[in-house]
Amino acid sequence: MRALQYRTIGSAPVLVEIDRPEPAPGQVLLKTTAAGVCHSDQFVMDLPQEQYDAFGFGLPLTLGHEGAGTVEAIGAGVTGITLGESMAVYGPWGCGRCHLCAQGKENYCTEAARLGIQPPGLGAPGSMADYLLIDDARHLVPLGELDPVANVSLTDAGLTPYHAIKMSLPKLVAGSTAVVIGAGGLGHVGIQIVKAMSSARVIAVDLSEQKLELAREVGADEAILSDGNTSAAIRELTHGLGATAVFDFVGAQSTVELASSVVAVEGDLTIVGIGGGMLPVGFGSLPYDVAVRTPYWGTRAELMEVLDLARAGKITVETEIFSLADAPQAYEKLHAGTIRGRAVIVP
Ligand code: NAD
Ligand code: ZN
Ligand code: ZN
Repeated sequence: MRALQYRTIGSAPVLVEIDRPEPAPGQVLLKTTAAGVCHSDQFVMDLPQEQYDAFGFGLPLTLGHEGAGTVEAIGAGVTGITLGESMAVYGPWGCGRCHLCAQGKENYCTEAARLGIQPPGLGAPGSMADYLLIDDARHLVPLGELDPVANVSLTDAGLTPYHAIKMSLPKLVAGSTAVVIGAGGLGHVGIQIVKAMSSARVIAVDLSEQKLELAREVGADEAILSDGNTSAAIRELTHGLGATAVFDFVGAQSTVELASSVVAVEGDLTIVGIGGGMLPVGFGSLPYDVAVRTPYWGTRAELMEVLDLARAGKITVETEIFSLADAPQAYEKLHAGTIRGRAVIVP
């Protein structure tokens, strides 16, 4: 089968021919229907050797941590799923047995590192291949009638903002304001999630006019450029109060500083992007009682909720489709910042 692999530090991923895996007892083999392109893949491929090794992803790495497929083969002992069923992959695999996994929070599994459990595309072989091996049927959520190509990115670009935003919902009452920094893959879905789940006004911030246009199309009430005036503009739009919640889908030094300069008293400052920005937190460094969070991905139940939001027509992913052979171009476009919404690879 074909697989898009990151093989050499600092080089572009390449399409190679590898053996099709067989599902061992308890495992499931999917025939891939769609695979999403996340900026975190770019982060991984930009790491110098030493840091890459420290993450333990290994080489070669078959990319793709957003995945969907139809059940192709079922390992011994697996029950409750049928051949041909259309599935979304819950990516942050955990042990299934620890306290947090028992709550469906496999994204925060306390045993995964010790047991060497890694997500597909971020250690385990990922979804950018003709077939994808799933370690446990627990990590599959039926898509039903949802189109896999249009919805595959909900497994990360939907689930991650959903998890981040859900924690802030008690604060996002009528009259509140949510700032969404970065209207890319995660951000453009995040805007829709805030609008669908709360009555907050949404102010989107991005470097590019095209992304701001997309932000407005998907429901942002205001969309403003990220430049030297952004902080003042947000203050003005909020009558000096600042934002009830700031979701930073970039996480660079400049954006975490923007976030801290506009968050309101008792607000939430949530850093989702992994741009390496650091925020000094101590008494007096932020308005009173601001909560700073750095969430990772989301829970199994939340993936079901996100898919239900899509079924209800409340969120959609803007997609640009690429073939597996053209996948390296998708990463080039992502790197150049010219993907509108999410790039999706269709084998
Ligand atoms: P993306 O490239 O699709 O979107 C990023 C957007 O941010 C683009 O629209 C870009 O124009 C904009 N941007 C860049 N710099 C900016 C700045 N200084 N000010 C305002 N806007 C700016 O990326 P994505 O796939 O949506 O991922 C977003 C971030 O989230 C990445 O850092 C990714 O690694 C991270 N991520 C984190 C998690 C998690 O669990 N915490 C999960 C998935 C992705
Ligand atoms: Zn991701
Ligand atoms: Zn666990």
